[in-house]
Amino acid sequence: MERLTYCGILLIAFVLFGLGITFVDNYVAKQLVQRDAELLSNKLAMYIDDSANELRNLPDITEDYQCTADNFQLLSDTVFNSTFIRWTAVLKDLTVLCASQKVDRHVESVVQHQIASDLTMAVVNHSESAPHELFLARQSGEYQYVASIVPMNPRYFVPVKCQNCLEYTITIDSVNDLLAPMPFIEFGFEEFEGNHAIEHVVTLRSERYLARFALTGNNDFLDQYRSLTYIMVVILSLILSSLVALYYRYWLSRYSSTRAQIKHAIKHGEFIPYYQPIVNVADGKVVGAEVLMRWLKGNGELIPPNQFIPYAESQGLIVDMTYSMLDVMVADFEKLAQQKTPLFFSINIVPEHLKSDRLFDYIKALQDSGKLKQYRISLEITERQPITDLVEARKMLDKFYAIGIDLKLDDAGMGYGGFSYVQKLGISTLKIDKAFIDTIGVKDIFNEKTLDAIISFSKKSGLSVIAEGVETDEQLNYLKEQNVELAQGYLFSKPIAAAAFFQINR
Ligand code: C2E
Ligand code: CA
Repeated sequence: MERLTYCGILLIAFVLFGLGITFVDNYVAKQLVQRDAELLSNKLAMYIDDSANELRNLPDITEDYQCTADNFQLLSDTVFNSTFIRWTAVLKDLTVLCASQKVDRHVESVVQHQIASDLTMAVVNHSESAPHELFLARQSGEYQYVASIVPMNPRYFVPVKCQNCLEYTITIDSVNDLLAPMPFIEFGFEEFEGNHAIEHVVTLRSERYLARFALTGNNDFLDQYRSLTYIMVVILSLILSSLVALYYRYWLSRYSSTRAQIKHAIKHGEFIPYYQPIVNVADGKVVGAEVLMRWLKGNGELIPPNQFIPYAESQGLIVDMTYSMLDVMVADFEKLAQQKTPLFFSINIVPEHLKSDRLFDYIKALQDSGKLKQYRISLEITERQPITDLVEARKMLDKFYAIGIDLKLDDAGMGYGGFSYVQKLGISTLKIDKAFIDTIGVKDIFNEKTLDAIISFSKKSGLSVIAEGVETDEQLNYLKEQNVELAQGYLFSKPIAAAAFFQINR
């Protein structure tokens, strides 16, 4: 079963990592393609602007234009000086009057688009398989200066290593509907094969035209932007999913071993009680004790509760641990309790203990058996853990109250219940948390006020008070002044083992 879960986790993690890595890699690749599309569209704008400037620099054409040597030279110079113009000519009524060089053209169709008051852009479709030719024309009276612009090849600007993997179209359209009669022109370059794996469109908006630059690539094109090959994705996913699966195994072994250890410890009575005296503030006499759990391991090591109680509580193990500890406590009474003082022993319970009759039956049986001797048991429940069903809890508590077992509210003022717990649960005593006792004599106006408020609330409500964590005489004196009856803390004693506790209480 465990092996099956392990394989399942490995498989799921592998698939998730595979998908995740591919997704991230694709995302990064797409960002790069977008960046390149923007770069290319800027180049297109540069081609057009630069060539338009060259044409505008040429002198206006007069009525009697002749293809003189000077005029021919002017056109040749324009081609020579410009980066993007490869041919210039002067046209009248679509007839070439003068050209920078003689080029034969078999023009099939021309689509023109006015891009400024004096400028026209045209795409010339040739009959043969040669790419479309982009023309820019400047009107000068009845004549036109015309420039053929070099085809914009993306390979000049961005690295394109694949063949027939890239397609791009440039669409020139009107900026608004008023100019709509002007024809829409579209031209593109490069042969293309395969699926359109990626496309990105950049729009350039000038005063009179909209140029849309669409860059489309197939998988080969996208691949060159991806940093990982499929093999690498598989290897990476395998490594990462193995790490996850190994971590799961490690966690499982730790988890199950702690759980197994605790179960073993319950069986072998390793959870033992330590007792911390609770004294009467007025005369310093011990009136009871809080029963605090310790884990005495087989090798003699003594483990404090903060190292295992939170885990035990979260795993629902604390209930059985409490019974195991109480068994040891009763054995302590049996062996060591000689004196006749009627002490109370306050045990820490969790909400879970109130959900069944088991604790009640256990304590009732102890009382009936006489094993408790002259002692009384008292319950402590912390305010830090919420009680989900207060009505159900109260029903159970009433059974305890009926046999003389009271309930103290631990960590009062620190948790969920607030003082509504006091009424709803029928609490007899508030245990004031050490955090409030620590404020005595310290300039902490807020918490000091809270301490006084808890004390005065208790008095008004007829509740007893136990001050927890009393460490100094100053704190003790303050509590005396406030008529707090009971206290517990290192000032009197730390929690101690049974032998020591019953020794001092002979
Ligand atoms: P808690 O119920 O608030 O118990 C009081 C803790 O304060 C004890 O720590 C005690 O040793 C400590 N303490 C008492 N006086 C002083 C003092 O003057 N100064 C200082 N610094 N500390 C003082 P401990 O024994 O380590 O227990 C810690 C917590 O573990 C307990 O806090 C309680 O929440 C939990 N715990 C202990 N035994 C049990 C148990 O049997 N069942 C459950 N559910 N929880 C337990
Ligand atoms: Ca307590």
